[in-house]
Amino acid sequence: MELLKSHNPATGDLVGEVPITPVDQIPSFVARARSAQPGWEALGAQGRANVLRQAAEIFAERAEEHGRLMSAEMGKPLKEATGEAKSLSRMDHELQEMIDALEPEVVEDGRLRSTVYRDPLGVCAAITPWNFPMAMPSWMVLPALMAGNTVVFKPSEETPLSGQAYADALNQVLPDDVLLVVHGADAQGKSLVRSDVDMIAFTGSREVGKHILREASGDLKRVVLELGGKDPLVVLADADVEAAAKFAAWNSFRNAGQVCVATERIFVMDDIAKEFEEALGRVASAMKLGSGQEDPDVGPMVNARQRDHVLAQLQAAVEAGARVVAGGDGHRDNFVTPTVLADVTDDMDIATRETFGPVACVTRVSSEDEAVERANDTRFGLGAVVYGGDEEKAGAVARRLKAGMVGVNRPPGGAVGTPWIGARESGFGFHKGKDGHRQFTQTRVVTHKL
Ligand code: NAD
Repeated sequence: MELLKSHNPATGDLVGEVPITPVDQIPSFVARARSAQPGWEALGAQGRANVLRQAAEIFAERAEEHGRLMSAEMGKPLKEATGEAKSLSRMDHELQEMIDALEPEVVEDGRLRSTVYRDPLGVCAAITPWNFPMAMPSWMVLPALMAGNTVVFKPSEETPLSGQAYADALNQVLPDDVLLVVHGADAQGKSLVRSDVDMIAFTGSREVGKHILREASGDLKRVVLELGGKDPLVVLADADVEAAAKFAAWNSFRNAGQVCVATERIFVMDDIAKEFEEALGRVASAMKLGSGQEDPDVGPMVNARQRDHVLAQLQAAVEAGARVVAGGDGHRDNFVTPTVLADVTDDMDIATRETFGPVACVTRVSSEDEAVERANDTRFGLGAVVYGGDEEKAGAVARRLKAGMVGVNRPPGGAVGTPWIGARESGFGFHKGKDGHRQFTQTRVVTHKL
């Protein structure tokens, strides 16, 4: 039996191991999930919610333990990890929203009466990244199950223990084979995509997302992709500079920058640029770097490959003329010092490819039009943020940004009940909100004469 070993990126210590699922066994996992599906569907939406609600208590009881595990496995600060673990227990509102989303709708036009049903698709594959090792699975597994599908879940090879712990908690309340876990890396992911599943819900990189979409096209499997980003932050001349800098630091450095909606490009108006760069530099310089378990401000990168990618982008940017405002003094093991770069130009690799590291890149602009044009100059379109003193004016700039989610004087994520959605190459389909939940269903319409 081949084992997948999980190491703490801060210390190199072995956290644990799981058996790798042999690729040739993956079809049998899908077959088991398919056999379990009719029984799960037969419970109805309320019945399924009643089962899943019991898991909320388990997640609440294990929040500290799950937080410690995620922090050890991928390095995020303990407080962030525990916050993520606690969020799993708050499912009541969302379960109700899912029940509402699945409720049949009757539509009449004076001649006909149609009922629109939202039925399960069958078996759903859920393939997840490592940066939010329990929240990302939850965002896909919960709506997939609530819709009456059974699920074969493949956690990231970087965080198999957290993925397994997530599934173990749910499996304490779920019937057999409704949620199955396969472990491994891209070979297992590819095999799952090619298998007899009806739907693939994927969160991860744009490149892998494109590969999955191509592979799924052969038999038109349903696909939902939540991908990477290169999110801009636009700081207008009338912005509260301290608040904007504080936000920029938080959203560039939390989870060591390994967040899909991290601020990756900052466009700041000339008039306030110096003040903004200094304020951001001050916050960055004060940040404490350390092992996730010590609850620092910034933990390690998830692995050496990710660290090397960030360091290579930083070095190339500095060689091409970017100015180091804070940090920039390299790394120790998997730790990268939180770094602020100014005078970043659009042609630099760090301005175009996703960085996914603790780096804030500042570019000065001379007009709102220039800020909007340069912010939109990307194939990505996940989140964006505008800071400005006049909410209405900042809102008008926000409307011109071609991202799926735009925050005004706040992070990009929307109110509860709204979609989590990437535009352009940041996504295909989406999650959350009633419309997001319905992506895990097959719509069917039955019509009678009136
Ligand atoms: P990744 O694409 O390398 O891997 C994601 C998952 O896909 C892993 O489980 C991996 O084993 C599997 N995989 C790899 N190759 C595969 C293939 N060919 N077929 C099927 N599965 C395959 O991504 P990652 O490095 O784990 O995560 C970081 C990325 O995720 C970043 O780009 C980030 O922006 C993105 N992300 C997006 C969101 C969002 O909501 N849009 C949220 C979190 C992370």
